[in-house]
Amino acid sequence: MRYSRFLAPTMRNTPSDAEVVSHQLLLRGGFIRRVTSGIYDYLPLGLRVLRNIETIVREEMNRAGAQELLMPMVQPSELWHKSGRLQKYGAELARFNDRHGHESCIGPTHEEVVCDLIAKDLRSYKQLPLNVYQIQTKFRDEIRPRFGLMRGREFIMKDAYSFHADEQCLQQEYENMFASYERIFTRLGLDYRPVEADNGSIGGLASHEFHVLADSGEDLIAHCSACHYAANVEKATAKHPTFKYHQATRAEISTPGASSVEDVTKMLGIKPEELIKTMMYHITGGVYDGGVVAVCVCGDDSVQEVKLARSLSAETVRMADDEMMTDAGAMKGFVGACGLSVPVFVDHALRGATGLTMGANLLDTHLSGIDVAQDIPVKEWLDVRAVKVGDTCNHCDDGTMQWRRGIEVGHVFALGSCYAEAMEVQFQNKEGRRATATMGCYGIGISRLMAAVIEQCHDDAGIVWPECLAPFQVSIISLGKKDAVMDASASLYHSAQQAGFEVLWDDRKERPGVKFRDHELIGIPWQIIIGDRDLEQGNVAVSARCGEKTILAIDDAISLLSSSCKH
Ligand code: ATP
Ligand code: MG
Repeated sequence: MRYSRFLAPTMRNTPSDAEVVSHQLLLRGGFIRRVTSGIYDYLPLGLRVLRNIETIVREEMNRAGAQELLMPMVQPSELWHKSGRLQKYGAELARFNDRHGHESCIGPTHEEVVCDLIAKDLRSYKQLPLNVYQIQTKFRDEIRPRFGLMRGREFIMKDAYSFHADEQCLQQEYENMFASYERIFTRLGLDYRPVEADNGSIGGLASHEFHVLADSGEDLIAHCSACHYAANVEKATAKHPTFKYHQATRAEISTPGASSVEDVTKMLGIKPEELIKTMMYHITGGVYDGGVVAVCVCGDDSVQEVKLARSLSAETVRMADDEMMTDAGAMKGFVGACGLSVPVFVDHALRGATGLTMGANLLDTHLSGIDVAQDIPVKEWLDVRAVKVGDTCNHCDDGTMQWRRGIEVGHVFALGSCYAEAMEVQFQNKEGRRATATMGCYGIGISRLMAAVIEQCHDDAGIVWPECLAPFQVSIISLGKKDAVMDASASLYHSAQQAGFEVLWDDRKERPGVKFRDHELIGIPWQIIIGDRDLEQGNVAVSARCGEKTILAIDDAISLLSSSCKH
């Protein structure tokens, strides 16, 4: 491709609305342009990178035995009604009526459509297992689209769905997909980590997310310093550091105006872990739907609300408002777990604790000398505390928990039969009886990956693409306008293409400084620089994106690239 004819408009300045480096560099390098909130054009450079990502994903999915198909973006809402997700999915699901008044939606994911497809043709267990995938545009009307391709409203996903006659077979395919994801992210050259993930409200048997480690990531990952344990903080567990409990007689103590952990501990001269924090939550979904519950954790801990929701099989948990608290018998600022009219759940870290202090549900008053098991009417012990940096690992006892930020680029999910049951994906089993299929689903954020790679692969000058993803492998940079330079460049351009390289020839009438800056910005791995002074000696300069220049004979340039280029 000749740069002079190429639609790759670079920008000098960083666009003010781009907060993360990948968004800045994708805009500045002319890879993408914003159409409207969370929706982008992929320019030729961007599309080339996307296609390279897709190729790797496709190769590994095919190698793992999955079959590619393509499902529609527009889906009839009836299918979503059938699965029970039409209401649940909420405003992220974009809906519209066609001219006949039938409601449709734009697919944010394809469990419904794929179940409908498979159910129609599935008759016998002999047709199973089956794994189908597509690479396709999704639409989710995200409440906060941001960071460019990282969280778009329209984005490209690889989504795969597997169907099985039993759970054991699903487990095997889950492991197969897990391994192929490891191959994909390794080939993409990423520093990534698979982490245990929350299964979401649909339950399911197992779920892992694959995170690219980057400070700009939206997710928090807790991982052990010594073993392989890593989990999304929404799911992570760890041991609470042990502390000494002491005996103390139960007493009402006056704590005027002290309603925060900090105020109370300061006033009473105790440590935060000697305090019990009681939180009141309003629950929707599950057995406590519409009600309020109290949750106790150590004073130095906080409640992980996703863990709480999951433990109570709730859809959402949110802090109870003042009126709900008063109705439950709680005194705002001095809430305690005694004397409430609502169920009280207590975190495991408080098991066996004695001599602690907690709110008395009376203004300006706390209770000291609390023996948790004896004094608190515990409905159930739960693991709802948020894991903290430094907690002891539950899985190895040697390491401590650390936190990293991550970008979720993939998700594997052993769903079980939840969708298949609602969508009636049934077959005749070996015993001749009707049975419901067991399912897995496996997603990769193709367009998000383009951003995630840049978060890990860049320097001050621009993007440093891994060779397998670069939009071109080689750029030929012609310096000056002399005919000799242009002729030599043209001939090298053709030989490099003939040797199988994707080449961008910078034939523009720009100053050398502009050309060098642009090529560093767009991150092509190899450059051949042709200037008249070197050319007079029959030479050109070859350099890697971050390497030193080598001056060599023009005829040797292609063979040097052939031996250096990994791809
Ligand atoms: P997130 O928690 O980031 O919203 P999710 O759990 O909703 O992700 P999945 O439904 O598992 O995501 O989708 C599979 C993959 O699609 C994700 O792992 C992610 O890489 C990608 N993805 C999801 N939402 C977006 C988005 N709004 N923009 C770009 N990629 C996305
Ligand atoms: Mg999401």
